[in-house]
Amino acid sequence: MSAFHGYAAPAAGKPLEPFSFQPRPLGSGDVEIAISHCGVCHSDLHLVNDDWKMSRYPLVPGHEIIGTVAEAGSAVRGLVPGQRVGVGWQSGSCGTCEWCEGGEENLCAQLQATCAPGPGGFADRIRVSARFAIPVPEALPSRDAAPLLCGGITVYTPLREAGVGAHSRVGIIGVGGLGHLALQFARAMGAEVTAFSTSPDKEAEARAMGAHRFIATRESSALKAVRNSFDFILSTVAADLPWKDYVSALRPRGTLCLVGVPPSALSLPGFALVGGNKKVTGSTIGSPGQLREMLEVAARNGVRARTEAFPLKDVNAALGRVARNEVRYRAVLEL
Ligand code: NAP
Ligand code: ZN
Repeated sequence: MSAFHGYAAPAAGKPLEPFSFQPRPLGSGDVEIAISHCGVCHSDLHLVNDDWKMSRYPLVPGHEIIGTVAEAGSAVRGLVPGQRVGVGWQSGSCGTCEWCEGGEENLCAQLQATCAPGPGGFADRIRVSARFAIPVPEALPSRDAAPLLCGGITVYTPLREAGVGAHSRVGIIGVGGLGHLALQFARAMGAEVTAFSTSPDKEAEARAMGAHRFIATRESSALKAVRNSFDFILSTVAADLPWKDYVSALRPRGTLCLVGVPPSALSLPGFALVGGNKKVTGSTIGSPGQLREMLEVAARNGVRARTEAFPLKDVNAALGRVARNEVRYRAVLEL
């Protein structure tokens, strides 16, 4: 069997190096994908740096994969060689628990993450369970579509599950890889959309991507000025933020939902939640069914990642730009 070739971090925080590895045997329910594009999610950087204390090295990151089916196992139905597919954070689950049976595989306790341990998509090929290889609508160019497989689904699912629509006032915290897609999806759903950002130079582009309003959060009184304003606030930021102010910015029955994981525990006075029946929740990626729906919604509504392309060999340059919050708005590796 010939080896697959990619890039791996040899140890926590180290630059990625060329890395060859033997793939797992192709199971009857698996597909082998020849990768053409892979987005660089901030989670890849968290994994390289072992921020979550779960990384195993050498570590091949990458979980916003687009490619074509090179080979399909004997039991695979509905996918054929040559077909374009995408793979996100999840590439396996138990298939038998109540969550898998109910089509919420992303909540399965035995979720297999594409690149943790991997090997993930910063490589020329990958083998995954066919259930998690999602056909990509023709209208979506591969480079713009790759970031939808993790960034897109992670923001689409909570907006959709919250019932966001024309009546909703939505705030998106962070205009990064996830946030710039959240602005577009929330706008496509008909909401009034506000971007919260530490980067004032992102204002014009945030507005072009769907924000009606832009709040520069480094200005000290900015959050106090929007008390009682939002039905749903989505945080895409992995930093400790003034959560009490964001809960105060919710209207009655409003929800603050985290998809970025802050380093510290949240501290909130009980009164912040009790008055106004407010909720604080979290959300993790989405199911294969939701991925199909999200890609269709993106294709129909012109939701596209704004990308910076890098050849795979420049993966460390791409990761460096992610670390410094320089990317506008998603780095994508091209093979
Ligand atoms: P990203 O592209 O780096 O964007 C994050 C944005 O957060 C930045 O662009 C910046 O936006 C803002 N930010 C950065 N540092 C900040 C700080 N100290 N204070 C306030 N804002 C700050 O990252 P991403 O790929 O979108 O991922 C965001 C987070 O979501 C990561 O932690 C990732 O692990 C997590 N994630 C979770 C899931 C899930 O299933 N729940 C899935 C994918 C990713 P501004 O410049 O606009 O302030
Ligand atoms: Zn991700």
